[in-house]
Order: sequence, then C-alpha cells, then structure tokens
Amino acid sequence: MEQERKTIYSAIQPTGIITIGNYIGAINNWVKFLDDFNSIFAIADLHSLTVRQNPTEYRQRGLSFFAQLIASGLDPEKCILYFQSHVPAHAELTWLLNCYTYVGEMQRMTQFKDKSAKNEDNINMGLLDYPVLMAADILLYQSHYVPIGIDQQQHMEITRDIAIRFNNLYGDTFTVPEGYYPKVGAKIFSLQDPTAKMSKSDPDPNGSISIIEEPDSIARKIRRAVTDSETEVRYDVENKPGVSNLLVILSVMSRQSLESVIDKYTGYSYKELKEAVAESIIEHFAPIRAEYARLMKDKAYLLETAKEGASKAAYLASKTLRKVKRKMGLVELK
Ligand code: ATP
Ligand code: MG
Repeated sequence: MEQERKTIYSAIQPTGIITIGNYIGAINNWVKFLDDFNSIFAIADLHSLTVRQNPTEYRQRGLSFFAQLIASGLDPEKCILYFQSHVPAHAELTWLLNCYTYVGEMQRMTQFKDKSAKNEDNINMGLLDYPVLMAADILLYQSHYVPIGIDQQQHMEITRDIAIRFNNLYGDTFTVPEGYYPKVGAKIFSLQDPTAKMSKSDPDPNGSISIIEEPDSIARKIRRAVTDSETEVRYDVENKPGVSNLLVILSVMSRQSLESVIDKYTGYSYKELKEAVAESIIEHFAPIRAEYARLMKDKAYLLETAKEGASKAAYLASKTLRKVKRKMGLVELK
C-alpha cells in the first residue's frame, strides 16, 4: 500500500529557539500525521543563512534542533529527518526554478519586506529568493501536504504557482501541494506583544518560550505575559488578544478543545488562567525535555541518523531533479 500513501513535507529553520509557536503551528501536526503519510522533515539550514549566523553557534544549534525534533516525537524510523544542506538537489532545483519565478513576485512577499526592514544592512539575494528555495524543498519530494503555520501561507501559494506554471509549460512534472494549517493555533502570538507573531528569532526572550525551557522560566514568562486592563477571562481575539492567545495555548498544551477550555475558564481571574497555562506547558514538554537531554549525550547517534535521513531524501530528490532536467532539455548522461 506504500504507493497509495500521500506525502507530507515540512521544515524548520535553525534560528533562535524552537518556540511553543513553532510547535503548536507546525511540529505538533507533523507528529500527528506521522503514521499515515510518507513523512519528510528538514532542518532548513540553507534558509536561515539569509540572516547572518555565527558559525560555531550555528553548528551546535543545528544538531540541537535535530535532537529536539526527534524528542518531540519525529521517530526517524517513521519519517525521513535530515538537514537541507546535506541534499544538494535543493540548491540545484532552486536555480532551475529561479528561471521560472519573477523578481516582482518575490519583492511582494510579506516576509521579504519584514525581514528586509529588520536587516537593512543585509538585504541579500538569498532573502529575496527564500520562497523559491522553499518551493524546491516541497516540490522535490512530490509532496501533497505541507503542515505549516499561517505565516507561511503566502510562500505556499507561490510554491503552488511555480508548480502549476512549470506543469503548464512542460507537462505534469510536480505534484501541486497544499498547505495544511491547524484549526487552533495556526498563529501563536508573542507573550510581550499579542498582536505580533511569536518568532524563534525574536531578540526579546520574554516574548516566546522554548520547548525545552526550564519550568521556572516558563512560569515566570507566562506570569509576565501581556494581557489587558480588565480582570476576567473572556475569549475575544480582537479586544483581548493576550488572553485569547493564552486560551489557545492552553487548549493545545492540555489536549482539550478550545471550546471546552473557553467554557471552563471564562470568568476566571488572569492569575488563575496563567497558572493553568504555565502548568500545561510544563507538563506537556517534560517528557520532550528529558528525551532531548538524553539524545544530546549521543552525538554519534544524531549524526548517523542525519546521514541516513540525507541519503533517503537524496534518493527521492534525485528522481524529481532528473525528471525536471529532462523536461527542460538539458543533456542527460547515460
Ligand atoms: P524566524 O523568526 O527565524 O523566521 P519562525 O518562528 O518564524 O522563525 P520558521 O523556522 O520560520 O520559524 O518556521 C517554522 C514553522 O513554524 C513554520 O511552519 C511556521 O509557519 C511555523 N510558525 C512560526 N511561527 C509561528 C507562530 N507564531 N504560530 C504558529 N506557527 C508558527
Ligand atoms: Mg519564520
């Protein structure tokens, strides 16, 4: 039945810390679908070179992220888990797809505009080209679904446009993928500014929480989370974004529906809600934190697993790349 299974693909950049936002918006869904799909997940370590990285820290963080993904439940026996930079086909397909993508399309991307504003002294070609590399990631594996947060929706649309454009020119080459967004938690907001997305690379450490954070620090950050001048809990995204964000986090962390969490906590004080939220996060991540600590002691296992992942991914990627080159008329060596 292997052939009938659909493929899911997603990736995460090794920047900053893996936040509860990344977990709720993306990783939690990767784990949920593991058993029913051909699942492929990457550390997008070429994507984050669009922003300056310290090489020593970057190398360590890459491996740490890899361990955090395994600890979160991405069993390497059940999925292909690898580093993007270990599979050269990503960079190669990016070049080919660049020739089918318009500069104007890239300049219109919200993330390009945001990240350009934040890195005014380093608006490099990679930053502009980020969505094409993402399209290459996804299309190389003939992916059907891409479980991501809503912030990546625009890039997902461009990926579909590029796939359709190519298919129209050369005949069926790429599976046209669809984004898959969680019903609850597709966008988790910063604890310090509940109108802004929680981000891994946010320089304010109080805005986000890592999935391997110390319990005391989790409790402190939730206590300090920005709410509003009222006192009673009510779910109201527009007028009470901070409180509503906490209710969403509580729902996913405690594995209860948002409706039941709203029912239960409406009318409670902010202090009571915050205590429940902190406890749910601490409890949810306790086993992940412990498993992460165990894995980090076994670097040889992590590297071996990454090598196996890269070799499985490279095999699949090379099939698509060959097909693309053939369609474009590049000379093939037998
Ligand atoms: P950076 O600030 O470096 O871009 P990031 O937090 O946006 O970091 P990415 O590596 O760009 O993280 O994205 C990894 C995944 O997490 C993507 O699927 C993205 O849609 C998802 N994601 C990121 N932030 C959130 C959020 N606040 N809520 C829900 N999902 C999110
Ligand atoms: Mg991002």
